Amino acid sequence: MTKKELIFLGPPACGKGTQTNRLAEYLNFPHVDTGSLLRAEIKGETEAGKEAKSYIDKGQLVPVELVSRIIKNRLSQEDCKNGYILDGFPRSVEQADELEKMNAEIDKNTDTKFIAVYFDIDTSILVERIVNRRSCPVCGEIYNLAFKAPKKENTCDKCGAQLTQRKDDTREVAQARFDTYNNETAPLIDYYKNKGVLKSIDANGDIETVWERLLEVIR
Ligand code: AMP
Repeated sequence: MTKKELIFLGPPACGKGTQTNRLAEYLNFPHVDTGSLLRAEIKGETEAGKEAKSYIDKGQLVPVELVSRIIKNRLSQEDCKNGYILDGFPRSVEQADELEKMNAEIDKNTDTKFIAVYFDIDTSILVERIVNRRSCPVCGEIYNLAFKAPKKENTCDKCGAQLTQRKDDTREVAQARFDTYNNETAPLIDYYKNKGVLKSIDANGDIETVWERLLEVIR
């Protein structure tokens, strides 16, 4: 069986998290989301979390050594052996080179298929999306007060936990995150295009429409 390695690119709040959560369930692959892994380190007050916090609060990238260590550890686990959904890594050319090295080490003698999915979206709507975003700290479900509100105010439809707002989902930090994306992450679009593994999808539209487009390109 071919191991499927799916990575996702796109600006903050482009809908990657919502779609990749669903895709992970659909394909029965683990959803490896660097942002959530880092927030869990912060919550657990680990050394890594303490180091990561100052960068996250400013909308900057956490140092590559720290995030690569966390990701390598996660991708080496047994549940990733048939495939994984990697959301939020790599976020720079340096991280992409690191991922290639990790995969070469982890995948010895394994037949693999690597796809980079790019969520192509009109960025003018994204700051509003960010400030309206809420998420479930327990099951990870993502909501938006403007277009995907929970049925009961501030309560997760799936598991009933109280929803929270990410500390970096403010207008000020959002702007810094867009700058970081444009400077460091956007060059990966050409990087993966040149390797012949990039699939772009139109990420404008409602959740169902984007989901159908996503399924088309990951087959
Ligand atoms: P996200 O949940 O993907 O929006 O990520 C939230 C924050 O975590 C980012 O603004 C970064 O500060 C940090 N972060 C997430 N993924 C990475 C990564 N691959 N490299 C460095 N920092 C990251």
